[in-house]
Amino acid sequence: MDKERIDEALELLWVLNEEGHKDLNRFRMSSEDDEIDAVIAVLKREGLVVVTGDSIQFSEKGRVQAKALIRRLRLAERLFTDVFELREDTVIVDACKMEHILSEELTDSVCTFLGHPQTCPHGKAIPRGECCKKYKVEIEPLVTKLPAFEVGSKGRITFIVQTDPSRLSKLNSLGITAGSVIRLLQKTPSFVIQIDETTIALDPEIAKAIFVKKLG
Ligand SMILES: [Zn+2]
Ligand SMILES: [Zn+2]
Repeated sequence: MDKERIDEALELLWVLNEEGHKDLNRFRMSSEDDEIDAVIAVLKREGLVVVTGDSIQFSEKGRVQAKALIRRLRLAERLFTDVFELREDTVIVDACKMEHILSEELTDSVCTFLGHPQTCPHGKAIPRGECCKKYKVEIEPLVTKLPAFEVGSKGRITFIVQTDPSRLSKLNSLGITAGSVIRLLQKTPSFVIQIDETTIALDPEIAKAIFVKKLG
């Protein structure tokens, strides 16, 4: 079975739990999956939920998995409203699109970058991560926009905020893409970065769209 169908079901159960519901029938009626019973059977078999009588509950394993999923979803929503500046009513992050938006490894970096937000734009709680426990002792943010980056420093691009697909593919063709390791050579009069042996000059507008994590 598709992982995304499982993810959608876990996400739904989490939301119903938040609203105080454990009712199996309610869960079945709220699901948009045409074959929710088949999904429930898989959830049970994988040990993600426990069904007793007419109630459905997470197992410990299921809760951990759902928590991580909800955390990524709601942080992605924050990212869209705070960084991409989209209106909150247009921001609907789908569990099945998550993998393309925010990788699991990046979740804590994004959380830190956003200042460990407690709620999503819809006011729902964002489950805490390891980074949120530590953040009080951390002084420097993990992820910064390129203009705030120190000249001479080396960093890895964590994400690029660019809504124009043609610009994005142009950056891509230059090797400026999430995961690339760069060195910032100068900021004035223009931004110049180095990727491998190539030096590339960037418009300030573009530089602002690039988020990097400093490498030691
Ligand atoms: Zn939300
Ligand atoms: Zn955090």
